[in-house]
Amino acid sequence: MENKCSKYEGLFIFSTEEELMKHLEECPDCRAEHEKMQKVSNLIGETKFYYRSKSNRIRKLKAVCALALFMFFSATFGVVNNDNELADSLMYGDTLTAEDLGFPVDSYGLLMVDDEF
Ligand SMILES: [Zn+2]
Repeated sequence: MENKCSKYEGLFIFSTEEELMKHLEECPDCRAEHEKMQKVSNLIGETKFYYRSKSNRIRKLKAVCALALFMFFSATFGVVNNDNELADSLMYGDTLTAEDLGFPVDSYGLLMVDDEF
């Protein structure tokens, strides 16, 4: 596969979930990309209640910072590898998309994929 499909990010951000899913059916490249995104989404899902229960912007920023710190320390100290519960939720978690979670997908979610995978 020399010509890797590059539509995924665009579809993810700009199109409906229906369109995205339709493309995923026929495009193995984007399916692989989507699986990575699911893992990130599930991680984000762990902290979703912060976003739902607090409506003001500063709280959201704090939650984003906390999540970023969590990701950093997880990667640094191997928490993700050693925490069975978290590993299970990564492997068997639900199929919520980042969009379902009402997240700023464009910057955060995709950035994590680029950096972490
Ligand atoms: Zn594609």
